[in-house]
Formats: sequence, structure tokens, C-alpha cells
Amino acid sequence: MRAQPKASHFIGGRYVEDDQGTAFESLYPATGEVIARLHSATPAIVEQALAAAADAQADWAARPPVERGRILHRAAQIMRARNRELSVLETLDTGKPLQETLVADAASGADALEYFAGFAPTVTGQTIPLGRDMAYTLREPMGVCAGIGAWNYPIQIAAWKAAPALAFGNALVFKPSEVTPLSALALAEILTEAGLPAGLFNVVQGAGEVGAALVSDPRVAKVSLTGSVPTGRKVYAQAAEGIRAVTMELGGKSPLIVFEDADLDNAVGAAMLGNFYSSGQICTNGTRVFVSRKVLNAFLEKLVARTKRIVMGDPLDEATQMGPLVSAVQAERVLGYIARGVAEGARLVCGGKSPSGCFVEPTVFTDVTDDMTIAREEIFGPVMSVLAFDDEDEVITRANATDYGLAAGVFTRDLTRAHRIVGRLQAGTCWINAYNLTPVEMPFGGVKSSGVGRENGHAALEHYTRVKSVYVGMGDVDAPY
Ligand code: NAD
Repeated sequence: MRAQPKASHFIGGRYVEDDQGTAFESLYPATGEVIARLHSATPAIVEQALAAAADAQADWAARPPVERGRILHRAAQIMRARNRELSVLETLDTGKPLQETLVADAASGADALEYFAGFAPTVTGQTIPLGRDMAYTLREPMGVCAGIGAWNYPIQIAAWKAAPALAFGNALVFKPSEVTPLSALALAEILTEAGLPAGLFNVVQGAGEVGAALVSDPRVAKVSLTGSVPTGRKVYAQAAEGIRAVTMELGGKSPLIVFEDADLDNAVGAAMLGNFYSSGQICTNGTRVFVSRKVLNAFLEKLVARTKRIVMGDPLDEATQMGPLVSAVQAERVLGYIARGVAEGARLVCGGKSPSGCFVEPTVFTDVTDDMTIAREEIFGPVMSVLAFDDEDEVITRANATDYGLAAGVFTRDLTRAHRIVGRLQAGTCWINAYNLTPVEMPFGGVKSSGVGRENGHAALEHYTRVKSVYVGMGDVDAPY
């Protein structure tokens, strides 16, 4: 199985190689096979990408927004037409089952391109009457933006950053995760085929040091990172040195609260989606499932029965519901957390083992207490912790007792209670009687350590444009000297 791209990087509208860069491989996590060999960007490659972006950006910003939108729209159509091919590539690079990638990855990237294609021409400023004088505002692009991605939703992350950046007149240099380098290159090809001028979307490969080289470059006006909290701290600090704008989409340890009046089948389904989809490698996952003690046994019975039926196996078989984790390192990490859960006294009711290679069974712990490691740290694997609660105030206090604040969910038929609770939850995204749905129309991002800024929705405009205020004097200048 090969998914070798024409070269490692995509700069100025074409593939570029520099074999002086450190060689690295992309592996298919289901089998460990090498699917591509690439090189990390050298300083010369980073320079080439930033120079191409800086050269191309001003002309792009000067184009009518409807024209920029038309190109993005065309890219969305190409992406949809190639959905299967892109999904197979994403499955090979991440190990996520084709059943998922066919509906969740490139498709959601295409949604973002369509949404921001339509949004671009609607952006206007304000006029501000000041009596005799007036002022107005202009929404201007930031200039050159740097995007840095995580490995769980590679093409989605690339498109969620490229679509608003390009729609609003910016250029982007994107560095995918070194674990999943391939699909960002496919996105670059598609944008180019759709008519995007050279230099506006560039892809450079490599690990943290390549990301850091982008973040510290004075030509970069804005940095958007999707990654873990420790990386976020470093990138945010480095961006602060240059007073650069940031969007930080970081990790979480989100609560999902199930009340006694909830539709239990729906709540169980949501808890499973929010812990096992993408083998649990989703930042917003509701990994702390708080269940009312009154329905705890019924909830667990349904949960365990359905979890045992999850079909794990060959990700390329469309009947497979769960694939491996992204890498052996990640599988080891997750198994380490499972061992820790057992050692700290949580009760393992389902899963817990690795059948082979990077695969880890869907795992459910109950009798989990708030102080256990599995209830405090982001595991990023298929490990659900079920915690019992007795009343509303108690569960809100416990749900909020974390440094993270990415997402939260509540299941109840009492809508007054649902709204009251989400009003008190410290999270950037909340779901009522649903979980993990992130349509492009809805702003997405975290509070507390989970992040800064928002992607998607109208909110993205704030993060890919800046406001220029223009004061217009309409009379004589009133100078006292
Ligand atoms: P990571 O933090 O290890 O890496 C993220 C990216 O940052 C990679 O491209 C990496 O090469 C780069 N990087 C690392 N050090 C850097 C540095 N010093 N300067 C610049 N770039 C650097 O994260 P990961 O393991 O790839 O992804 C998993 C994490 O991402 C989880 O914590 C998950 O919650 C988070 N995530 C968040 C969201 C969100 O939208 N909030 C979405 C997906 C994943």
C-alpha cells in the first residue's frame, strides 16, 4: 500500500523537495506498513514558503471577495467529487475506519470551504456618525497566517484553517502533524486545481521545530494551532514574543452529564460516539460521563452490551466501526492510562486490552472518582470513565473542576434544566441531547486551558481579519495653536 506524494512540500503552487531535510515515514497504523517517505522542511524550505505566501497575499486581498469565494467553492466541489479517494488516503494515514472518513473528514473540509466561500462577500465594515465628522471601519486580512495541525482530523483541520484564511484575503503556510503529513498536500492540489493563485496555500512538513520556525517569523501575523495544551503553551508564548494573533484549539477532558430523566438509549449512543469514534482520538470527547445514580445500572447495562458489539478490524473494510490508534506510541500511552485506572481502583467493565499492534479495545471504567488519573488527564484513546452523581449542584461543581474547558454535554428531557446547566458549565461548546456534532455554521473552541479564539461560524471572522478605523474630517481642523 503506497500513498507516496510527488514531493514532501507544496510551495508556490507546486510540489517541492529538499532531501537535505530529515527523512521520516508515514505508516499505516493498521499494519505498520510504510505508505510514504518524506523529508522535514529545512530552513530554506520554510523561507521559500513564507516568501511565496508574502508575495502572493496582497494581490489576493485586492480581489473582489466574490471572486475569492468562487475559487473556494470550486475547491469544495472537487473535494466532494474526490471524497472516496481522499477518505482512503486519510484512512491510510490515520488508521480511522473508512466508514468514518467517508462522512466526517474531507466532507467537513468541503463544508468549511463552501461556508467561507459564501461568507466572504458578505463581510462589511461599519459607518459611525460623529456629528459633523464621521468614521468607518474596514475589515482587512491579517496577511500571512501560519497553521499547525494535529493528527486526528488532518484534512479537516487543514481546511478549517485554510477556508476562513483564504476567504478573507490571507495567505497560509500550513504544517500538518508529522504523524499524518499526506492529506494537506491533497488539499493543496485541489485548491490549485480550483484556481487558487500560487503561494496562497503552502504546505511544509516536519515536527515541532518546523512549526516553531513559522511561529517566530516576523512575516507571520497570525498563528492557528490545533494540538495539545503543552504545545499550545509553547506556541502561544512564542507568538506573544512577536505580538502575533493566535487561535489555540487544544485538548480537553469534557464532561457528559446524564440525568435520570434522559432518554437512556440516546445518552448511551452519545457517550459511545463521544468516546469511541475515531478510536477516542477527538479533542471534544466526553470522557467523564457523569450518570445519575438513579439510572446508573440501567445505563451501564445498555452501554456494555452495545460496546461489546463494536466491530473492530480492517479500517479499509466499510463494515469496520473502529480501527487502531494513530501510532504505536499513542497505543502505548493509552494502555498505560488503562493500567493506571485499574491500579487506582476503577472497575474495568469492558475492553482494556490491545488485540494487536496499535489496536486498543473500546474500554469502559466505572466506579471512577474525580481524583483518579483517568478522570483528570486527557487520554486521547477509546477509554470512557463513568462517574456517579446525586444532584445538580454537585455534578456542575465536579464537571467544572478541571483546567480544561473545551466541551460539555447534558442529557435530560427537562429543557429548563438543560439550559440552566449549560449556562453554568465552563466550556466553549455545549450539547443538549447530542454530542460531538460540530457543523461549520457553529463557532468552535475552548475556554480555560483548552484554548483561545474560535474556528468556524461568524466568529472566525474575528480571527482572520482585523479592523481598521478611519476617521473622516469634514470641516476645518480645530487647532489651539
Ligand atoms: P501535539 O501538541 O503533539 O502537536 C500538534 C502540532 O504542533 C503538530 O503539528 C506538532 O508538530 C506541532 N508542534 C509541536 N511542538 C511545537 C512547537 N514547539 N512549535 C510549533 N509547533 C509544534 O498534538 P497531537 O498529538 O498532534 O494532537 C493531539 C492533541 O490535539 C490532543 O491534545 C487534542 O485534544 C488536540 N486537538 C485539539 C483540537 C481542537 O480543535 N481543540 C482538535 C484536534 C486535536
